[in-house]
Amino acid sequence: MTTIAVKDEWKNRAKIDNDTYLAWYEKSVSDPEGFWKEHGRRIDWIRPYGRVKNTSFAPGNVDIRWFEDGTLNVSANCIDRHLDKRGDQVAILWEGDDPKDSRAITYRELSEEVCRMANVLKERGVKKGDRVTIYMPMIPEAAYAMLASARIGAIHSVVFGGFSPDALAGRLEGAQSSVLITADEGLRGGRKVPLKKNADKACDIAKKAGQTVETVLVVRRTGGEVAFQDGRDVWWHEAKAAVPAACAPEEMNAEDPLFILYTSGSTGKPKGVVHTSGGYLVYASMTHEYVFDWHEGDVYWCTADVGWVTGHSYIVYGPLANGATTLMFEGVPNYPDAGRMWEVVDKHKVNIFYTAPTAIRALMGAGDDKVTRASRETLKVLGSVGEPINPEAWNWYYKVVGEERCPIVDTWWQTETGGILITPLPGATALKPGSATRPFFGVKPQLVDNEGGVLEGATEGNLCITDSWPGQMRTVYGDHERFEQTYFSTCQNKYFTGDGAKRDDDGYWWITGRVDDVINVSGHRMGTAEVESALVSHPKVSEAAVVGYPHDMKGQGIYCYVTLMEGEEGSDELRKELVAHVRNEIGPIASPDKIQFAPGLPKTRSGKIMRRILRKIAEDDFGSLGDTSTLADPAVVDDLIDNRQNKK
Ligand code: ATP
Ligand code: MG
Repeated sequence: MTTIAVKDEWKNRAKIDNDTYLAWYEKSVSDPEGFWKEHGRRIDWIRPYGRVKNTSFAPGNVDIRWFEDGTLNVSANCIDRHLDKRGDQVAILWEGDDPKDSRAITYRELSEEVCRMANVLKERGVKKGDRVTIYMPMIPEAAYAMLASARIGAIHSVVFGGFSPDALAGRLEGAQSSVLITADEGLRGGRKVPLKKNADKACDIAKKAGQTVETVLVVRRTGGEVAFQDGRDVWWHEAKAAVPAACAPEEMNAEDPLFILYTSGSTGKPKGVVHTSGGYLVYASMTHEYVFDWHEGDVYWCTADVGWVTGHSYIVYGPLANGATTLMFEGVPNYPDAGRMWEVVDKHKVNIFYTAPTAIRALMGAGDDKVTRASRETLKVLGSVGEPINPEAWNWYYKVVGEERCPIVDTWWQTETGGILITPLPGATALKPGSATRPFFGVKPQLVDNEGGVLEGATEGNLCITDSWPGQMRTVYGDHERFEQTYFSTCQNKYFTGDGAKRDDDGYWWITGRVDDVINVSGHRMGTAEVESALVSHPKVSEAAVVGYPHDMKGQGIYCYVTLMEGEEGSDELRKELVAHVRNEIGPIASPDKIQFAPGLPKTRSGKIMRRILRKIAEDDFGSLGDTSTLADPAVVDDLIDNRQNKK
């Protein structure tokens, strides 16, 4: 396996070198109290904390508190404290769906907008602890809505703008939210998304279920015509003119909830993850600074949607708490064409770029010329998040996009973790393509077997975290028992991530995918990611998803769904070629038993493959596909069923 040593230029400009990493890490795990006591001060507190860490993972008594006697306001940390020094610096750099559209919002403007929105919410009776649901396109007003909620102590629940009325209604009910902030329409890839229309439907559905929405605040984005309900619906541009541009921030306890956010739903019914204020902000801002080696003046771009946790921690809270310029992109990677991302990089002189493997693989398939026609000379650091990144895509990202000048930070984390837990640091960590490398400060990963026994040395197993970190989720909204059951019952006194991982001889961590996705072929345990990686390294394959199915001889057989590159045709001959290729890459044990050519794979709205659906189809048991409400394109499922290779 290739290792890429830290280059001198990365080391020279970085805030953290390897010796510092090792020293800080050692301190963070041997003396978490002392370590976080010091680093908790990176944000502004109204009343400073005395008690740093008070956490228990004990069965029946999971209780997580950080900085519990401190008070603060998160929006004041993201705005007010920067006004003296950088009131005129750009806070949010917005790039519209149309390449001709962009806007720059300074910290001073951000302050005014957020305060006005906070005042509008207050006028509508929103109080500390109330839940505000946000269903928005990627426009600055989405960030205003989050920060305005935080300013008055309301708890926001952002629902991805691509979700259906039903999904939105479910989340309105779940959060018992009577306030909704939305827009007339969204714009993505030149197409309009009827947000207000969906919101109206969702409000009707929620009302029937007993949850009445009393205020719908509507941002005008496209100017398209929308229905208005008197007394309930309020135009933002009208309401904002009638309120002051100042609003005193509410003093919040460190452990007061900041937001609820539902997980992607890759593995089952989405969970309402609750994050609180103090620890979350300390952790989001600290990881943002060191993982991306963010420096004063950098232009930083995370391509996620604010509907996902990545958008919360690494578009809004982390960067703004640090006083960064954060780029927010309304559009999609392939509009007007697959060169858009790199054009935006040049246009806004982006220094740090953070995206997902699904986007990298798609852009890789579109041809190198789309990349190389842009200069990309400002890029310093590239990041990846969301899924294991296969070495093939990693190498393309590193060589073609970054021209071997930019370290890649493959950041492993979850909605539940609030921030990045396992990742390289640009000036400190030698890189291995496909490995998330080493834990961030304060993070203690461990491998355990299926009986809960601790595994030592270079091996593979279930990934647990043995102690709390400040950004950890505190509960499942309204269901602490589900929280304990989901995360703390598999391994006693440990947080169970649900992911599998490998630790190599250098102590580096390799995420192998969800534990549910591990297959056992004739007694050999295998991560599906490994087989997928082998398939994708074949020149004719663009994407692959692998699942296990019951097999008489082997226990489990290997079933592969393969999407071919544009212009390639599936055939029995190609099947044989792919089987031989995988045998060659991994070994005979990994020989695919079934290969189904699939024009599309079922993905969540955040672009992750939903293997649980593929598993059902491979088992010829598609009567009960489970929760499919977060699927991006339900139509692909029909094709997969029609062409299944295991008919009973
Ligand atoms: P649900 O929990 O509802 O099934 P989800 O797990 O997809 O949905 P997220 O919290 O958005 O929801 O995703 C976290 C998961 O994404 C991780 O548990 C892991 O499986 C995967 N992941 C994220 N980043 C990486 C990475 N850098 N390498 C490998 N896997 C990653
Ligand atoms: Mg998950």
